[in-house]
Amino acid sequence: MSISHGLPEGFSPQSYDAIVVGAGYAGAVCARRLTEACGSKVAVVERRSHIAGNAYDYEDEAGVLVHKYGPHIYHTADERVHEFLSRFTSWTEYSHKVLANVHGTLMPVPFNHRSLRLAFGDERGEELYQKLVATFGENKKVPILELRRKNDPDLEEVADYVYENVFLHYTMKQWGKTPDQIDAAVTSRVPVFVGDDDRYFPQAPHQGMPAEGYTTLFEHMLDHDLINVFLDVDVRDILKVKESTVEVCGKPYGGEVIYTGALDELFDLDLGALPYRTVDMVFETLDMDQFQPVGTVNYTVSENFTRITEFKNMTGQVVPGKTTILREYSREYLPGVGETPYYVIGNAKNRELYQAYRDRVRGVLNFHVVGRLAEYRYYDMDGVVASALELSDEIIQSH
Ligand code: FAD
Ligand code: UDP
Repeated sequence: MSISHGLPEGFSPQSYDAIVVGAGYAGAVCARRLTEACGSKVAVVERRSHIAGNAYDYEDEAGVLVHKYGPHIYHTADERVHEFLSRFTSWTEYSHKVLANVHGTLMPVPFNHRSLRLAFGDERGEELYQKLVATFGENKKVPILELRRKNDPDLEEVADYVYENVFLHYTMKQWGKTPDQIDAAVTSRVPVFVGDDDRYFPQAPHQGMPAEGYTTLFEHMLDHDLINVFLDVDVRDILKVKESTVEVCGKPYGGEVIYTGALDELFDLDLGALPYRTVDMVFETLDMDQFQPVGTVNYTVSENFTRITEFKNMTGQVVPGKTTILREYSREYLPGVGETPYYVIGNAKNRELYQAYRDRVRGVLNFHVVGRLAEYRYYDMDGVVASALELSDEIIQSH
């Protein structure tokens, strides 16, 4: 692998079998697979000055390993994804735990058996828990919107409490809307858990952190003689999508193009901007060993940030006397001015706009879209890797 900043003088796209736009999971997985399976020479073009996309991590001035674009915790039930990524890293034993700060009481999220006892007291909490077990069974996940639909006074009591104290205000801060106004799939990511497991991803068979961090994982994935990475290059300066062809550096390009950026940007937002939420990530280094008991504390009824993450609690890194925390402030994303489009806003109207952009690249047979931006989907890392593995299967088969 070579990594350079900018394109070299006389850069010739024709000397590459494939051009991959974006060095995040979607792009890096495709680049690696095409080189290995087809012997393709691949140019990876990335507009940031680093690889790893939103999973990028680095050591800050205090020497603490932090995640620049928000806390990333690996978890998956997909064996193929796990096997593929495990070629490039080993994993720590870390299981992510989250507490909600509800008027000063810290209770597990997803809301579980212990949270019920903390919220309602031991006796009443236990009664309500037994009712949940009788209704849904043990070790079951129940989305809050489903719980709210149950017509039973005890279950309503639980649903009202959890809705008000865990979901309503947090969701207002995160999305500017109530839980009923957003795609139900979003809040069902964090269901009530009828059981004692207090991990954020109960039942995910594989969870942990890459032992040497995410950026190192990406260095290993991109480390192949046939892969060249060009950082600080915005592909829009060299690539144009026409009706049935792609032009790179002013000439038709016949190799495969794998695009992992936002589709609206590729067309200068000419049908309108795809809506997103962005997040202001505010880091602070403190002169102490530990700030909070777990990786993340969600502020579900107070504050104007959503959560505080303490990285050392997730990575297990030992840095005596210093710790770095991150507060996340979510807000509307302003298109076209260089902000980071973090969260897709999934609703029928936005998906229709996305489809209109997607239709414009459908006829270009060597142009492929994959990833959270290019597919306009709220993907976790494993979902993106799965999608990139599938796309690369298709391309490999066609060669
Ligand atoms: P990205 O990582 O965004 O990569 C796309 C790359 O393309 C970027 O580097 C971008 O700079 C580049 N690019 C775009 N346009 C151009 C262009 N015109 N020219 C050149 N390059 C371009 N997932 C989990 O599994 N666990 C978590 O705990 C988790 N936490 C998250 C927390 C936050 C705050 C957010 C927002 C997401 C989180 N995710 C998590 C999701 C995870 O970040 C994504 O699933 C994953 O990083 C997406 O990979 P990608 O390759 O599709 O996109
Ligand atoms: N959520 C909430 N309170 C919480 C945790 C989550 O209201 O304590 C809702 C909120 O709408 C959030 C969604 O559930 O956007 C998904 O949460 P998750 O932690 O999966 O979000 P991410 O880590 O992707 O930001």
